[in-house]
Amino acid sequence: MNETPPNIILHAADVHKNFGGLRALSDIDLQIEEGKTHAIIGPNGAGKSTLLNVIIGRIPPSSGAVIFDGTVLTGKAPYEINQLGISRVFQTPEIFPELPVLHNVMAPAFARRDGAFRVNMLRSVGSEREIRDEAEAILDDIGLHGRREDHAGSLSRGDKRRLELAMCLIQRPRLLLLDEPTAGMSRHDTNTTIELLRKIKSTGMTKVIIEHDMHVVFSLADRISVLAQGCIIASGLPHEVKEDPRVQEAYLGGSVE
Ligand code: ADP
Ligand code: MG
Repeated sequence: MNETPPNIILHAADVHKNFGGLRALSDIDLQIEEGKTHAIIGPNGAGKSTLLNVIIGRIPPSSGAVIFDGTVLTGKAPYEINQLGISRVFQTPEIFPELPVLHNVMAPAFARRDGAFRVNMLRSVGSEREIRDEAEAILDDIGLHGRREDHAGSLSRGDKRRLELAMCLIQRPRLLLLDEPTAGMSRHDTNTTIELLRKIKSTGMTKVIIEHDMHVVFSLADRISVLAQGCIIASGLPHEVKEDPRVQEAYLGGSVE
């Protein structure tokens, strides 16, 4: 009786996106609860990356709005949305290849400190020494500490993805968006990433994760939404979604597992 209702930190309300004649997103209503890990799954071309791009301000919706903690994001620039406390790990890593791995992780923290007004991020502003210590701790967590002096460009594809995750984590966003964070990783590196994402859950960071690998999805997700042909066809607890016949159908009659 005394349960407080969940805080909806992100709400995509009635979002539509057309690319010319193609309806990439139709009538999207997505609510993300604070502190939870919410997976978005669905076949290739379903509109998952488009939805993330709408949230971070890279793509304007054709109609509808995205609201983050009471603030309407729609119409804001990507950097403004980032400053409100939303970070995204991209499908293609965006790193500084000429810089050492450690400096790549430190850079977003400096950018934030020197850019002043990112008041809504969880992290407090630190000295260079504190930022370096934190960057080293994150690299240790993700298993890249031994590579900290190497140029980021020399990392494998999977390691670059983990580096980019580290660059997001140091910003301590309130909402972390991950677009296929384990794509291109070995099973071992995938499991390391799952462990890391579990660990950061305890910090209260909310995560939205797009993922093909069902092992990753069912290891991490508190909630799952399924996109197919631009529509959310199911949304709920993992076991509810897994058993939903519409979801089985969307995966070509195969099992979600
Ligand atoms: P997913 O990430 O689920 O695989 P996407 O969001 O990348 O799917 O794509 C959804 C649909 O929108 C696809 O048909 C894709 O070809 C199309 N699409 C995505 N981005 C663009 C764009 N910038 N211009 C035109 N069509 C696009
Ligand atoms: Mg995609």
